[in-house]
Amino acid sequence: MTSPKRFSREHLNQFQVFRNVLIDPIWELLRQCEVRNLSEGEVLLEKEQSNRTMFLVSGGSLKVYLDDEHQREAAELGQGQTVGELSVIDGSAASAHVVSAGETLLLCVDEKTFWRVTHASHGFCTNLLGLLSLRMRSSNISLQESENLQGKFEQQALTYGLTGVYNRRWLDQMLPRLLQRSEQDELPFCVLMIDIDKFKNFNDNYGHAIGDNALCIVAGTLAKKVRPIDLIVRYGGEEFCALLPETDLQSGIGAGERLRKAIHQVQICDGSGKPIPGISISAGLAERRAGENAEDMLKRADLALYLAKTQGRDRVVASA
Ligand code: GH3
Ligand code: MG
Ligand code: MG
Repeated sequence: MTSPKRFSREHLNQFQVFRNVLIDPIWELLRQCEVRNLSEGEVLLEKEQSNRTMFLVSGGSLKVYLDDEHQREAAELGQGQTVGELSVIDGSAASAHVVSAGETLLLCVDEKTFWRVTHASHGFCTNLLGLLSLRMRSSNISLQESENLQGKFEQQALTYGLTGVYNRRWLDQMLPRLLQRSEQDELPFCVLMIDIDKFKNFNDNYGHAIGDNALCIVAGTLAKKVRPIDLIVRYGGEEFCALLPETDLQSGIGAGERLRKAIHQVQICDGSGKPIPGISISAGLAERRAGENAEDMLKRADLALYLAKTQGRDRVVASA
């Protein structure tokens, strides 16, 4: 709905972009501008729609939505604020849906007038720069927040809540890269496949919750007892994997033994706080062979783990 009403000069300083601006040199330009009245729910701009007008809110307010369903409200623009100026400046389409929140009165500055005003008024340009820099800052903050959230979700997806160590998905992504790097650098690389012994009995005897707690303690102990460049992965259930860069078979056996002994030392208590007698792990070790892929290497470590189990558990066996 278009109203024939015009603006008086006194009304202009209500707008942020005209605050402390000398109106005389631009009044002739602005007095020609159209004034629009929007009723509640009326759409001013559609996302992706081309726009060549800066709108200044004189009364009422506009809601800005990023989604087509008008569910995700990004902002509400009230009296004195502007919308559409970015499209006028760079010729881009509207980046959001803009809808009237009630009865809204707008001063509409078309493209031609906008550029004439920028040529005629230093004060207007300065205010516009301030406005644009505020917009940029708030976009940067939103971007930073969304990057932080994304990082958090990625980290959660890559690690198990229970133990905080890396998970299988991470291993699938990273092991091929780590092997490739060690091959390029002509450095040895070992994988230890680790499994808690008789853990089903443990759960049966002490309950699943105490079992979960034991898993956390085992994972934490493994992570603490390896070197900073080694990596611990929860492979699944009560199975873990230690990735040992720059480690040959002999050192790998040493690392496995160190972990096995460290697990002997852990203190786990039952529901009444009484210490539970010894928990142990078995481990299978494989050293990278030239040209071997991640899958084959893990298979060999798994086979060595199977041998450790059949030979009596609580031991480290290296793949031939
Ligand atoms: P083995 O020495 O041959 O490895 O015997 P095991 O009992 O550890 O092996 P098995 O594969 O028979 O059973 C694994 C057990 O690990 C059964 C399952 O209840 C337990 N387990 C796996 N994941 C979890 C978990 O997240 N929490 C708890 N509490 N237990 C788990
Ligand atoms: Mg087990
Ligand atoms: Mg198992």
